[in-house]
Amino acid sequence: MNPALLAINVPFHRASLGEEEVQAVSEVLRSGWLTMGSKTLEFERRFADYVGSRYAIAVSSCTAALHLSLEAIGLEPGDEVLLPTTTFTATAEVVTYLRGRPVFVDIDPLTMNISPGDAKRRISPRTRAMIPVHFAGLPCDMDSLRDLAQAHQLHVVEDAAHALPSAYRGRRIGALSELTAFSFYATKTLTTGEGGMITTDDESHVKRMQVMRLHGISRDAWNRSGGSWDYEVREAGYKYNLTDLQSAIGMAQLAKCDEMNEARRRIAERYSDAFASLPALEVPEILPDRQSSWHLYVLRLRLEQLSIDRKRFIEELAARGVNASVHFIPLHLQPYYQERFGYRPGDFPNAEHEYERCVSLPIYPGMSDDEIRYVITTVSDIVRLRGR
Ligand SMILES: *Cc1c(COP(=O)(O)O)cnc(C)c1O
Repeated sequence: MNPALLAINVPFHRASLGEEEVQAVSEVLRSGWLTMGSKTLEFERRFADYVGSRYAIAVSSCTAALHLSLEAIGLEPGDEVLLPTTTFTATAEVVTYLRGRPVFVDIDPLTMNISPGDAKRRISPRTRAMIPVHFAGLPCDMDSLRDLAQAHQLHVVEDAAHALPSAYRGRRIGALSELTAFSFYATKTLTTGEGGMITTDDESHVKRMQVMRLHGISRDAWNRSGGSWDYEVREAGYKYNLTDLQSAIGMAQLAKCDEMNEARRRIAERYSDAFASLPALEVPEILPDRQSSWHLYVLRLRLEQLSIDRKRFIEELAARGVNASVHFIPLHLQPYYQERFGYRPGDFPNAEHEYERCVSLPIYPGMSDDEIRYVITTVSDIVRLRGR
């Protein structure tokens, strides 16, 4: 190993922020209008144009986006919602906000996305919706899911927290389903610190969500700023709006979105070129009809070819300064979902098998060439040392 590389510490993530974001925020600060206003409207317009949807609604998080989406479709207590067990808790948690039941579905081991076949088996007379999650940024099998949804009259709300910019058969994620929720959390491919967006082509959903994201009030603050003090409270809504400060950062990030995606794609390519020849490693699937955002680069270990388990593998990476992570602990293994809904270990064998052997490596546009090479060398060294 090159001794000059020994001191490197590669963080799991670094946000790609530059002078553009600093400038954009300064401009908003100087304008004196801090909360949702003209910048947010402009961000919504640009975001919708970028993904190819008719409308985009800016909100404070993807969790808020998913919640408002389920509220907009009229999810009722006792309604069942299909979603993969391999996801972040937010995907399922929002179903419980409306007293619905999250019905977990096993994953396709190839893509780690929701299995359409397993989803079909779990449909009941109470199933109202499904929330496909584009794991790591690789789009789900949307044609099969759409056919299934149509056959059973299910609403489709996509969790696209990982999927900007991702595309399925030539169309960007955000332009495919009834509703799509994006995340601008600090570690996501486009960040505003915290933030989210809903895209849809349905005008009635837009009207409902615009009211519900701000206290159930009929007109937004930017509309009232013209001097009119009049407003109506139509519902007990939420406080889910995005601020102009965040939207200004979002627009600076959106302008770099393609460029940042290209940088991630190149890193993924270098990783996969290096790791594909190591029999103890499986590299992420690439499908010809889909384009990934490469939010995550998830390696899978062939544990039978290694003398250490995944936990130890990550510890050994960390000891050499490579910070890896795991996505995700399946939800059916979490105490809350077990206690409230009766899920048990063993319920979703594919999800458990992949969970035990998956490792997310650092991948972000600001990685230096040295950092990329160091990750490759370190992973390869550990595999060689711990191979059997
Ligand atoms: C990050 C994430 C969310 C939640 O996003 P927030 O903007 O933090 O609310 C939802 N689903 C998935 C799959 C995520 O990774």
